[in-house]
Amino acid sequence: MATLYDDFTEYFEAAAQYSELNPRLLEQVKTCNNVYQMSFPVENDDGEIEVIEAYRAQHSHHRLPTKGGIRYSTMVDADEVRGLAALMTFKCAIVDVPFGGAKGGVCIDPYQRSPEFVERVTRRLVIELNRHQFIGPAIDVPAPDYGTSAREMAWIADTYRTLNPHDINHFACVTGKPLSLHGIPGRREATGLGVFHGIINCLADARAGHDLSPGLDGKRVIVQGLGNVGYHAARELSDHGARIVGIAEHDAGLYDPNGLDMEAIARHRWEHGGIGNFPAGQVFANSLETLEQSCDILVPAALEHQITVDNADRIRAGIIAEAANAPTTPDADRILRERGITLIPDLYLNAGGVTVSYFEWIKNLSHVSFDRMLTGTADMQNRRILDTMQAITGSAVPLQERAMLERGPTEIDIVHNSLAKTMGESYQRISDLRSERDLPDLRTAAYLYSLELVAQSYLELGLFP
Ligand code: GLU
Repeated sequence: MATLYDDFTEYFEAAAQYSELNPRLLEQVKTCNNVYQMSFPVENDDGEIEVIEAYRAQHSHHRLPTKGGIRYSTMVDADEVRGLAALMTFKCAIVDVPFGGAKGGVCIDPYQRSPEFVERVTRRLVIELNRHQFIGPAIDVPAPDYGTSAREMAWIADTYRTLNPHDINHFACVTGKPLSLHGIPGRREATGLGVFHGIINCLADARAGHDLSPGLDGKRVIVQGLGNVGYHAARELSDHGARIVGIAEHDAGLYDPNGLDMEAIARHRWEHGGIGNFPAGQVFANSLETLEQSCDILVPAALEHQITVDNADRIRAGIIAEAANAPTTPDADRILRERGITLIPDLYLNAGGVTVSYFEWIKNLSHVSFDRMLTGTADMQNRRILDTMQAITGSAVPLQERAMLERGPTEIDIVHNSLAKTMGESYQRISDLRSERDLPDLRTAAYLYSLELVAQSYLELGLFP
């Protein structure tokens, strides 16, 4: 079976055909620079020693640090992390985040293990990464991914700090940390929020190839996966007028053309570990069948390889929004294109997470929150404008409104607005390139745009003779 790295190679090469760059330079841009494979012993809860397999791949060093999540899953292997690390390089380039791509994986099932065991594995992992210079604010900065969350990031930050007491920037060694450990508000929902912005941008784009109207009002959405990304994407979409008609989870799928109560379903999933016995709509014991139901927007937000040659023919959506990494295989991608289905590619659509990680990293390096140095001045400017308006018009703004208008941006305002702007500008760049170069789809445009940017840095840095 084709691996994630094979998928990446195929997409990269399809886009590279449209580039006039030196093929040897393109080969360097494509290649994964290093993969560090670790095996280390950790005591389990029965007092026995288990040997844990783990990987960290750094795809490209054209920008430093390298950046990307760490996933905990029994499916992890060297090819998967290499493919995902490569995707990170191009994801960062698309949203103009100055990092090279990386990805890590630990071969455990965190849902079947005690928090104490997961903590021991995480701390031991950091010792290994640190020993081999695979972690550090200037070197390589992990983040949450499948099977990890702020909890693991806190253990990573704490272990790194213990090992590097003289590094004043130790908190910038990892992002996605809890707020109390110098995380940033908005990081948890950032990927899902970015997915929402990406979909809005595509709906508003008359050149995108779909025949859906701009705006979310009444749009029927099916979401696969109610994890961190899927849940926040679905919530944002439904808060802005979309109707969630289908939800697919690992145990089953639900579909109701009149709309599902996604909050209730998410609560049920949280309490019972699945959604199979939730009393709503049509139930699909084979969860993948949910993806084949009629909708305007299909959001695969779970794992890779969900849309394949086996089901691509039966997808009935106007837009496929790749919230997960690599949910569509290249063969399926071809079928969907022939069928006229618009696809918003993963390397753009789920880049909201790493964008806000970048904000968190900057905040950690500057040792001050974004609003702390801003709000006082913004308040003052707003006060001046309001005073001047009052002097000119002779009428005062009511006190309550005045207080609201005077207030400068909070840190969450800054994060949300900067993320929205980033997703908007990046979409525009991809869509423009697609039109200018007459490219077959948005994925090819996203790859071409980012590979040319990365190639440019190799040339400018003299990394390529
Ligand atoms: N794991 C996320 C991704 O695949 C976030 C990476 C990061 O924030 O560094 O994009």
